[in-house]
Amino acid sequence: MPVRRDGDTAAVDDQHHKIQLIMSLRNQGIRDTRVLSAMERIPREHFVPHMFAEQAYADQSLPIECGQTISQPYVVGYMTEKLKIDDRCKVLEVGTGSGYQTAILSKLCRRVYTVERYRTLLRDAEERFKTLRLTNITAIVADGMKGWAQQAPFDRIIVTAAAKQMPEDLLDQLKVGGIMILPLENEEGDQELVKVTRHEEDFEAEVLLPVRFVPLVAGIAKEL
Ligand code: SAH
Repeated sequence: MPVRRDGDTAAVDDQHHKIQLIMSLRNQGIRDTRVLSAMERIPREHFVPHMFAEQAYADQSLPIECGQTISQPYVVGYMTEKLKIDDRCKVLEVGTGSGYQTAILSKLCRRVYTVERYRTLLRDAEERFKTLRLTNITAIVADGMKGWAQQAPFDRIIVTAAAKQMPEDLLDQLKVGGIMILPLENEEGDQELVKVTRHEEDFEAEVLLPVRFVPLVAGIAKEL
């Protein structure tokens, strides 16, 4: 039978589960203490639907509104670590979703520009940023496949929905020396996480790991 969660019990449980999650991420190879400490400071329970509150610190993705998902903490930590962000970075995120990844990024960089195609998701995410006083985030409803030309170029770009092919506009908006991480479908139709580094003359791509993300979809979503 589910145990009733009153406010205090829930807070103690969350704290306990959070510490366990951070230890497990560390054991799985995420060692960047800045990333781990950002994940410790951002309350994931604020980003998941109420009915999943008790699973907020389980290492799994969860459904959010509009048929989308909040990413698995391990994948969030892994992608963030691979981006090698510092506090001078201007970061573009495509696929705000719940805003959880955005919040983690905001603790590590100068400013995050985040783009979401669902107005509902963006509105809820912005509400969370306000509650948590994350003031270095700028968010818009737009088609993130086109990037954010007015704010480009970016030191780092992170895409949290799977692309069928390399989004050319995002490559154009990456600074020389910059890094982009995105889930990309391979020829077999499986998704893998790819790290792209922009050099003076060309781009270098490195395949990191198999993943499962919701698809990157062109255009702004039509909502009722
Ligand atoms: N980082 C988010 C992941 C959300 S799922 C989180 O952890 O909560 C991916 C998000 O990408 C979805 O919200 C989806 O609507 C959004 N998305 C898909 N295609 C997009 C596009 N072309 N432009 C902007 N957002 C897009």
